[in-house]
Amino acid sequence: MRKSGLTFAVETPNEFGQAVLNKRAERSKVLDILLQAKKRGWKLAKFYFMIGLPGTDLSSTAEEIITYISEMEKQVKINLNVNIGTYIPKPHTPFQWVKQISEEEALNTFRIIKDAFRKNRFVKVSYHDTFISMLEGVISRGDERVGDLIETAYRRGAVLDAWDEHLNRDIWREAVTDVFGDVSDLLRERDAEEQLPWDCIDVGVTKKFLYREYRKDLEGKLTDICAHPCDHACGACRSGLKPVTGSTHASAVADAVKRHRQKYAHYYQAGEQKVFTVLVKFTKLGKAVYLSHINMMKVFERALRRSGIPVRYSQGYNPKPKIDFAHPLSLGTASEAEYLVFQTSMGEEELNSRIRDLSEALPEGIDCLGVYGVKTAGKFSLMAQYGGAEYELQTDDPEEIRILAEQHSHVSIIEETGSSVRIRIIVREGLPDIYKIAGDKYGFMKKYHPKRTETLSKKQIPMDQASFLA
Ligand code: SF4
Repeated sequence: MRKSGLTFAVETPNEFGQAVLNKRAERSKVLDILLQAKKRGWKLAKFYFMIGLPGTDLSSTAEEIITYISEMEKQVKINLNVNIGTYIPKPHTPFQWVKQISEEEALNTFRIIKDAFRKNRFVKVSYHDTFISMLEGVISRGDERVGDLIETAYRRGAVLDAWDEHLNRDIWREAVTDVFGDVSDLLRERDAEEQLPWDCIDVGVTKKFLYREYRKDLEGKLTDICAHPCDHACGACRSGLKPVTGSTHASAVADAVKRHRQKYAHYYQAGEQKVFTVLVKFTKLGKAVYLSHINMMKVFERALRRSGIPVRYSQGYNPKPKIDFAHPLSLGTASEAEYLVFQTSMGEEELNSRIRDLSEALPEGIDCLGVYGVKTAGKFSLMAQYGGAEYELQTDDPEEIRILAEQHSHVSIIEETGSSVRIRIIVREGLPDIYKIAGDKYGFMKKYHPKRTETLSKKQIPMDQASFLA
């Protein structure tokens, strides 16, 4: 086993604070585990903490974390990575009434902790972005104006915000100010009697139960796990629902895997069984152009399952359906001619009867243009057959495309009609796709609206070895 790291999500070193969270991570036990792990060869441990937790005092939090980590490091002499975040009291939890600390309070606390270990090469401290935590709090705890906030930010240019390099803080900060004014009102402590914006959503667990838990938690009293019959009804067990008890995580997972394997036994075909390679030609048009490659794989996995066509799975611990695509399309590019292959143990005759179901199970924009059985003696690699592609670009300035073709010997113009230019790109070893040839990916997509019109085969395989099904 690779001994890379151990993770302790203790949340707070304060044991009363842990009890408030219904959690126990006693310092002596953590120390003991660390010492044992060190003896067995572990070199690194990670600790996760949160600040602003109910039942803890923010003014002493930094000092408590510093003392805790210093002690662990001195006693165990192990590398420690410490990650700290701001607690965001979420709706539908016992702490939905609690205040969320401000960005400034969080940042001051993080800085004190980071500074304390600046010269300690065994301890690395990182913390969550306080602006993101504020935004998360506002979106989680806000009222119907959250919709206005998201629309405002989007209309001002906020897109792909989950990726740090695309997050435009100025846009979001201005939108938050314009829609809500001061956010401290949203993030403040709420009164017990107050109508909360999310009260209208019924998640099963009642508000009365949550409040009772909140009061109990603040006294550091733990709540037992669910049992049947239940002595602390939360409201979730109704309409015949009851808790699953007496199962450990490991045995529950093992049972689920066993049931899945039995149900889909025909999907897990052993290597010696005769398999049939099937080639599918399909389109990716309309809204489907916004499906990423990973989602395309899921789309076909589901469509094949719905149509009852058993796909051969890879072997090993984490079996995956054997579906291969020829040169996956970049996000945003339309295509009139995409190819994939999958392997199945289903015979040709039965397969023919299911192909219509496969077409019907695919979403709008993805249409099966043809399904072919490939006659192959051994392993078949679709990508090895891939020879290039033809693209059609819509542009107001065809001259730009001409320059592109002049600069790249593997790009040639094959047809020009008004603002539409058809180019051919022959892929050779190591040659990137159309975006990389043309530069900036997203700008290129918006500017030229590329569409792949044909995928070229190196040796006219597999088409000349394939027979049309259905
Ligand atoms: S057993 Fe059911 S009703 Fe009782 S606490 Fe658990 S989920 Fe709620």
